[in-house]
Amino acid sequence: MGENNQAINPFANAKMPNLKSLLDGRSLFKESAPFHGELATLIAIDPNVGVAGLPQSATGQAMLLTGINISAELGYHYGPKPNPEVAAYLNDSLFSRFAKAGKKTALLNAYPPRYFDGIDSGKRLYSSIPLAVTNAGLNLFTQEDFLAGRALSADFTGDGWRTMLGFPDAPAMDAPQAGRKLATLAKEYDFALFEYWASDYAGHHQEMDKAVELMETFDKVLSGLLEEMNDEFLVLITSDHGNMEDLSTRRHTDADVPALAIGNKSARDEFTRDMKKITDIAPAIWRTVVNS
Ligand SMILES: [Zn+2]
Repeated sequence: MGENNQAINPFANAKMPNLKSLLDGRSLFKESAPFHGELATLIAIDPNVGVAGLPQSATGQAMLLTGINISAELGYHYGPKPNPEVAAYLNDSLFSRFAKAGKKTALLNAYPPRYFDGIDSGKRLYSSIPLAVTNAGLNLFTQEDFLAGRALSADFTGDGWRTMLGFPDAPAMDAPQAGRKLATLAKEYDFALFEYWASDYAGHHQEMDKAVELMETFDKVLSGLLEEMNDEFLVLITSDHGNMEDLSTRRHTDADVPALAIGNKSARDEFTRDMKKITDIAPAIWRTVVNS
């Protein structure tokens, strides 16, 4: 969550009516948190956890999934892919804890064949989230799952599968449909995660137009997701670190990140209680799921 500055922050330029309606007219700026509304709660989360240097994806995602202050224990932030020290923490994550507790859990992203080819050949390393999933004994969703409607494209709409990955007949969804699909899939699980990284890419490339377009698409995804909301369903939108909210730098930022919770108000209040830093999120997810 950055400054309200059109020169550097896509959130100051993107039209996001659905996000704004959740926040009573506010945008996702640092001054917008804390916010406790009728439809959503917004808390500012510290991803730096007292460790020097800028937060990075491997440690950030591993902290989101474990609740352990890994950056403090190791003395550094690390990324994008986990080194062996970070990877060691990912044997015990929300995915493995829920799987052991008999809860239904999944990562809803679909991965194309060339992703698995890269892993099998050793040319590609898992990032922290898919590593946590596979370490839990769960499968990553494949091309077959995507074509059968059991998983979602990382770009929401499936454009990338049709235009870049060589699947011209892959299912096409507009953004609101993708949001409804995401919600419908998530409802099949006690805990489901969807990972969206195009915003990080846009931040590294400092592309204002692209970032605005991504966030306007994201807002339409949100509209579809909101159509499917009910009291049984709590949504958290968060991030492992800042980046895109300040396009004056191609590096990550030390900005607070949002914990935006959508759903039943008393569930949101309980979920976001004492939530201040990235390591508070995994325990909150755990107690919400096991108590529901
Ligand atoms: Zn990055």
